[in-house]
Amino acid sequence: MKIQKEHINKIKDYLWEIPTSFRPQYMNVPARILASETLLDEIMEDRSLAQLVNVASLPGIQGASMVMPDVHEGYGFPIGGVAATSYPKGAISPGGIGYDINCGVRLLLSSLNRETVQESLGVLSRELYNHIPSGMGKGGSILLSSRKMHEVLRNGAEWAVSQGYAKAEDLRFIESNGKLEMADPRLVSERAKQRGKDQLGTIGSGNHFVEVDYIDEIYNTNIATAYGLECGQVVLLIHTGSRGLGHQVATDHIKIIMGAMEKYGINVPDRELACVPFDSEEGQNYFRAMCAAANFAWCNRELISWEARTAWAKVFGSEVDDLHLMYDVAHNIAKLEEHSVEGKSSLMIVHRKGATRAFGPGFPELPEKYLKAGQPVIIPGSMGTCSYVLAGTARSMEITFGSCCHGAGRRLSRTAAKKQVNAPVLKEELRSRGIYVEAGSFKGIAEEAPVAYKDINEVVETVHASGIATKVAKLKPMVVVKG
Ligand code: 5GP
Ligand code: MN
Ligand code: MN
Repeated sequence: MKIQKEHINKIKDYLWEIPTSFRPQYMNVPARILASETLLDEIMEDRSLAQLVNVASLPGIQGASMVMPDVHEGYGFPIGGVAATSYPKGAISPGGIGYDINCGVRLLLSSLNRETVQESLGVLSRELYNHIPSGMGKGGSILLSSRKMHEVLRNGAEWAVSQGYAKAEDLRFIESNGKLEMADPRLVSERAKQRGKDQLGTIGSGNHFVEVDYIDEIYNTNIATAYGLECGQVVLLIHTGSRGLGHQVATDHIKIIMGAMEKYGINVPDRELACVPFDSEEGQNYFRAMCAAANFAWCNRELISWEARTAWAKVFGSEVDDLHLMYDVAHNIAKLEEHSVEGKSSLMIVHRKGATRAFGPGFPELPEKYLKAGQPVIIPGSMGTCSYVLAGTARSMEITFGSCCHGAGRRLSRTAAKKQVNAPVLKEELRSRGIYVEAGSFKGIAEEAPVAYKDINEVVETVHASGIATKVAKLKPMVVVKG
């Protein structure tokens, strides 16, 4: 199925729709695209929109199946997608969450400014690289016994605090406070636990990173002040997820769910959309295992923060109590949330795959000092361009189930990027622009080169102009540690 321009209606600026009449035999709701004209043209080049139309067939889907401007094709569901289904009988689909359960980003703030750290960047990049294990399948220094693994899967970031790796104040600055109560460690397979037992505190492969940035521009002073951001300030951005453990949880449950679909009479246009009713046994088992994997990811980002703080103290002196957590958000997860469709409010299962929660001001879970500003939304761009901090808005609740984009989004596949990019040359070029890149392999650098990604400025302008999030600050990279 190739989607052409004539199948797409413009609803208003930045919002496009493929109506159910396009595939009335299976679309339960329309498919909506949030994009500028330019990004829409780019989006039409891969299978994202065909996948988006397929998602509109999910049992119990509400409102519309949606994609953000950073969308690109993924396993079954596009990456950059949001799908909300009715609670409790609507579908839950592991493909709508992704293999890296609770992949996400967090931003830590230092008290240092750009000029002060300039001379230490070389040393800092080596220390971060040495303290934070990176690379595919790479293990860390913490080996979890099966009892400790259970504690991590149950308690998420709280576990790191209980073991002295972090202060309790961090927890308030994490989506869901870094712990999903529905987690059940018994539903995570032995194989998944084996894969994860030495992976806490590790970033994993290519697209994941730890980055030192500085704040290059502030767009909204009030919100920036509430978040603690200042021009020239040095900050640390961490991007990773639940590692091999989450991947195995997805693999295990996709297999089970594929086998169970027929029993529930579910028919979807692509096997990769495999799903079951949320309240079915298989649905509950997956959801509770997913929550456990999400907890593992939050604990992982907390331990990486500990490693980064240790490296930081080594370089800048242990007297600086630095790198305070600004916020941590997931971008591959399903959550139970209250949303309203056509004026009627109800509980829904919101799948976000390569999409960030972006709740507006007044959301009670937020730490008090962010209540008026809204939830921080952290959008990485690429190692050679820039990243952004935005704030969620009330508008996101009306059009995207309280969601926003999660990055620039890929425009080249990893294979295509590897063909185009000469990694040693790129590394030198970045170095000449003041960016230190540390990576285990040149392959990782090539796959993640800035040309592999869409224009982050265009993506961020789109979400800002459409009103689902407000631009707060722009970050520029200085040190990038790549998986
Ligand atoms: P994903 O979770 O889909 O792998 O990646 C999220 C986003 O991170 C990508 O869409 C891309 O824009 C961004 N990204 C990938 N590598 C880097 C990096 O090294 N630095 C920064 N700041 N962003 C990156
Ligand atoms: Mn990931
Ligand atoms: Mn990610």
